[in-house]
Amino acid sequence: MEKLYKGIHKFQEHYKEEKDFFEKLGDGQAPPVLLITCSDSRIDPNLITNSKPGEIFIVRNVGNIVPPFSAVSDKNSIAAAIEFAIEGLNIRDIIICGHSDCGAMKAIYEEDKFFEKMPHLKNWLFFAQPVKEKIKQLEISHKNEIQQLTEKNNVLSQLENLISYPIIKELLEKAEIRLYGWYYEIKTGKIYELDRETKRFQPLA
Ligand SMILES: [Zn+2]
Repeated sequence: MEKLYKGIHKFQEHYKEEKDFFEKLGDGQAPPVLLITCSDSRIDPNLITNSKPGEIFIVRNVGNIVPPFSAVSDKNSIAAAIEFAIEGLNIRDIIICGHSDCGAMKAIYEEDKFFEKMPHLKNWLFFAQPVKEKIKQLEISHKNEIQQLTEKNNVLSQLENLISYPIIKELLEKAEIRLYGWYYEIKTGKIYELDRETKRFQPLA
């Protein structure tokens, strides 16, 4: 915690340098993009897109998961954020960003014992089960390959779940909303974008 307290002190100095920016920022937000990504501490959406506070509406959870609309109960923070992004903020570009070495995508292969004290995590990762089933059918033995394919296919799967929301489906049919799949490779700093026709990820230069 000490490091964070020192960091706040440093930020106060930085604030003084960019006082005008922050004062304007305090008047309201109008981010053009919704980014759904993992809670993993190594992902910094503003850093990897060279953007500033106020430019990205960010929703994070374990495994960058979007529960399918059919599984959304009356209290669901992801669904609430999606609704607010589209209706409240008028956002028309949505990115789902997965990443390398994702703990959530490793955990979906764990046995019940692993989740003994994490029942909510087990239930949450249920939304990524279709990905696991798909990868198992490919009969790959190399661990790293399984991991990466799982992470990338999870992005695809969560994009499909996004489309299950009537609010998004309707806008897609009118070509009034754009959905993107990204994959962030932490070690190399590279970001890959999904080509939804070929279902392949291409590096963004
Ligand atoms: Zn992750």
